[in-house]
Amino acid sequence: MIIPVRCFSCGRVIASDYVKFKEKMDKIKKSGKNPTSEDVRKAFDDLGVDRYCCRRMILSHADLIDEILPFS
Ligand SMILES: [Zn+2]
Repeated sequence: MIIPVRCFSCGRVIASDYVKFKEKMDKIKKSGKNPTSEDVRKAFDDLGVDRYCCRRMILSHADLIDEILPFS
């Protein structure tokens, strides 16, 4: 739905990192290729998202708000 503001496990603020992460992935997709695991790792390292609890919050998030809005 909407990315949680903080990581459920450690409490680190991740919502702002999610926006930057998504921009980086969209940039790679626009260049015509799918992001590899190395691209994802580099994006997380550049953003300073070190813990795997925070990484899973961003990686496993499904952005569904635009699909749900018409039904509200
Ligand atoms: Zn965390």
